[in-house]
Amino acid sequence: MVRDLGAPVSAGGYNVYTGESAGARTPTAAQLGLEPPRFCAQCGRRMVVQVRPDGWWARCSRHGSVDSADLEAQR
Ligand SMILES: [Zn+2]
Repeated sequence: MVRDLGAPVSAGGYNVYTGESAGARTPTAAQLGLEPPRFCAQCGRRMVVQVRPDGWWARCSRHGSVDSADLEAQR
């Protein structure tokens, strides 16, 4: 069982990279480490994304934020 990622990237009905309804395929933490999500998996809203030299964070206005540092800890 994979531990829960942040709500904006955990299993939902939307592809976090395209915002399309794409089933509940959740990117792995490794994938997310390479490319920040652009859309919330829970609601498909475009998220505010900030890329840092060492990672990124992304925030959905409804579902809160997720930080790549948190994903790193779960690898
Ligand atoms: Zn959301």
